[in-house]
Amino acid sequence: MAVPKKRTGASAQGHRRSNWKATIPATTTCKNCGEIIPTHTICPKCGYYKQVAVSIKNENYKAEEVEVKKAPAKKATKKRATKKEEVKVEEVKAEEVEELKAEAEEAKTEGTEE
Ligand SMILES: [Zn+2]
Repeated sequence: MAVPKKRTGASAQGHRRSNWKATIPATTTCKNCGEIIPTHTICPKCGYYKQVAVSIKNENYKAEEVEVKKAPAKKATKKRATKKEEVKVEEVKAEEVEELKAEAEEAKTEGTEE
């Protein structure tokens, strides 16, 4: 633990403490009921925030309204994934076609031999 080298004088203490002042808390009026409330808080009187019933206190409160909208999944990653899948499918199809051709040729050669 750091230890101060010298004792802080009364003057320095006074100067430091003189800068510690009370501040007026930021307040705003509730747009629903007009009550003076601290900013960025749900109205303690009516339970509204940004003109939406958010608190269980309020009768109009619905849990469904408050559900957070999920951000849409990144499209780029999905597209890349689908492209890779498409390529794989095309490769598989090409292999199948080649196999079928080979079988057809075998059948032809067998037919001609007999
Ligand atoms: Zn209110």
